[in-house]
Amino acid sequence: MKVLVINCGSSSLKYQLIDSETEGVLAKGLVERIGIPGSVLTHRPEGKDKVVIETPMEDHNIAVKLVIDALVDKEHGVISDLSEIGAVGHRVVHGGEKFNKAVLITEAVKKDIEELSALAPLHNPANLIGINACEKNMPGVPQAAIFDTAFHQTMPKRAYMYGIPYEYYEKYKVRRYGFHGTSHDYVSARAAEILGKDRKDLRIVVCHLGNGASISAVKNGECVDTSMGLTPLEGLIMGTRSGDLDPAILDYIGEKENLSAKEVNTILNKKSGILGLSGGVSSDFRDIEAAIAAGNEKAKTALETYCYRVAKYIASYAVALGGIDVIAFTAGVGENTYDVRKQVTDYLAFMGVKADAEKLKIRGEEAVISTPDSSITVMIVPTNEELAIARQTLALL
Ligand code: ADP
Repeated sequence: MKVLVINCGSSSLKYQLIDSETEGVLAKGLVERIGIPGSVLTHRPEGKDKVVIETPMEDHNIAVKLVIDALVDKEHGVISDLSEIGAVGHRVVHGGEKFNKAVLITEAVKKDIEELSALAPLHNPANLIGINACEKNMPGVPQAAIFDTAFHQTMPKRAYMYGIPYEYYEKYKVRRYGFHGTSHDYVSARAAEILGKDRKDLRIVVCHLGNGASISAVKNGECVDTSMGLTPLEGLIMGTRSGDLDPAILDYIGEKENLSAKEVNTILNKKSGILGLSGGVSSDFRDIEAAIAAGNEKAKTALETYCYRVAKYIASYAVALGGIDVIAFTAGVGENTYDVRKQVTDYLAFMGVKADAEKLKIRGEEAVISTPDSSITVMIVPTNEELAIARQTLALL
């Protein structure tokens, strides 16, 4: 069976068609600027040249229709008929306390996703638009929702409560949820598999370091703590997000710069993190590395501050886990950036962490990068959220 994996944003749609038997990607692609002038579909069929289709797409229905047309196209298609797609798996950002695992989509599930939009106003409505567009274009094909928050629902209360009046949890569900759950689940399971061990016997810290970044502590195969909170703003310093800070800063900067809380929130989400700290160099670590090589002091500070916080989180998760057996680096930065892995493992030397100088340089492939006598096994485990979504979708059928 083929499973179509959809990750829908407000003006974009990413997709992968996965063959469930081989787990290979048959085609993948991206639609950008949906509903905005300049709509474009970039379709990458396996083993064939990529195709770029520029045509107006006024809404997600049209975008999904064009994706399907590309998948069954005589020249650049990868299947001969739409009926070969047995299921669609949708990434849904917020499942609140309602969803602790993936579910098949029903009218009731859609209503729940809509209600949870209050907690993820930028994401859940877009995810829902994608679901509706697929239902319309592929009637009768089972659709599944795979929630970013679900894996973290096993966190104990002491890990997810904020130190604020309890009534805000009761009235508005203000608590920590965590995100990137599909990745933390996949990477922790894969790390155990690579080591030939049962995940239930390991205490694993997963460092998902991409544009967004989060860390999780996985014990007995379950998440016991994670760094993102009510929203994906909490925790690590990220590409453009501040991560943890003194909440009084909101008011202070607002007053000094004459900005509303909403405006400061936007600065914390879009203009902070590595981009902000580096004085505007970039949110991309490749640019930061180049700037450091050219002697840019702010870029150097940005990288150091980033790594210091990652290391502090890892060490704190020794408390959450009662010790650490495995640290796994994943996502764009975790898989590729030597300097980050080097600085973080150096900070952790006091715990007996020893990285292998050569293996630290590995990029983008599964590897153990610690020495045999390291107290903790340090690994690179590339994430594969699409495959994890396809697997979970299939498991629901
Ligand atoms: P997203 O959260 O958007 O899925 P990714 O996991 O793709 O993000 O990570 C994107 C980030 O990873 C980029 O901003 C860049 O900083 C970093 N990155 C990607 N590839 C490399 C590379 N080859 N070398 C260094 N950094 C990289």
